[in-house]
Amino acid sequence: MHQLYDPLPISEIDNIIGVQFRVLDQGFVRVIDYMGDDAAIMQAARVSYGRTTKGEIRDARLIRYLMRNRHTSPFEMCEIKLHVRVPMDCWRQWVRHRTASINEHSTRYAIANEGTARTAPDAWRRQNPVRKQGSDGLLDSETGMQLTLEEEQLLIHCREVYAKRISAGVAREQARKDLPLSTYTEAFWKTDLHNLLHFLELRMHPSAQLEIRSYARTIGYEIVRRWCPVTWKAFLDYRIDSITLSRPEISIIAALTKGRKLEAIRLASDFGWLTEANSERLEAERKLECLGLEIPWGAYYE
Ligand SMILES: Cc1cc2nc3c(=O)[nH]c(=O)nc-3n(C[C@H](O)[C@H](O)[C@H](O)COP(=O)(O)OP(=O)(O)OC[C@H]3O[C@@H](n4cnc5c(N)ncnc54)[C@H](O)[C@@H]3O)c2cc1C
Repeated sequence: MHQLYDPLPISEIDNIIGVQFRVLDQGFVRVIDYMGDDAAIMQAARVSYGRTTKGEIRDARLIRYLMRNRHTSPFEMCEIKLHVRVPMDCWRQWVRHRTASINEHSTRYAIANEGTARTAPDAWRRQNPVRKQGSDGLLDSETGMQLTLEEEQLLIHCREVYAKRISAGVAREQARKDLPLSTYTEAFWKTDLHNLLHFLELRMHPSAQLEIRSYARTIGYEIVRRWCPVTWKAFLDYRIDSITLSRPEISIIAALTKGRKLEAIRLASDFGWLTEANSERLEAERKLECLGLEIPWGAYYE
């Protein structure tokens, strides 16, 4: 049974300090250090009361209340420092999250990491025809074999050119300029739990690229789940596995639940949704499916 108000479980994070969680072919994430846990969140939220605990069930309920109502500052009382190994293209997306402190391996100072993210023949993703930023399905295995072979040749060539430049005495800061984006980098990444959850919400989402999604899921399910188990469960319940409804969506759902299908279609038309590639309509369709409701304009729209 789904227990809403589990008592505060003990944080298990001490058992995984330094443990490498593998991501992609050669990447990893591991915890270097942390501060605080579920108890620290609750303690901060109760600073005005002078009492830190009101019993396990009420403590868990408080964390869930904070999450539900986006009272975010108590979650900033917890911090975590991760050591990550990530391909450069994925890292480029990662560092857009500005609310973290970073120290990255310098390829001006040291030789670039030898690792490069390779793509298996059955892992070449097809461009999504509708979502310009997304992929959809896989290429056939014969094409995949060819692409993987070409990738291998290209990576070997890039590495040889780089090594040649280094041996010729070219400065490391210049020799690196043609290394591929698949080259792995390493960094220490420190952030607080509030900003980490924001990162996870965006990067665990199906619209995020598969590679960074793999890192985000590993951080979430392997690390945050053990570090702050009550917060993690509340995060899944209220942020990841929940839906929010806009005013247009509420009016359409209200019409549908009263059996007024034509009114729902008219509303969608008034909102300008019944045009060919309307992302707001597509998002609303996913929510209707989730609620077990019919998509009223289906046949109409086609
Ligand atoms: C699926 C997806 C697709 C994306 N596509 C693109 C793209 O095509 N091009 C592109 O450039 N980026 C893209 N991004 C990056 C995106 O725009 C954000 O830069 C990134 O997700 C970081 O989010 P953030 O700014 O909320 O996080 P953080 O930088 O961690 O900031 C957290 C919060 O702090 C506040 N904050 C931080 N800095 C400032 C500031 N300077 N001013 C005001 N408030 C601030 C904001 O409230 C912000 O939400 C994409 C992201 C995702 C998830």
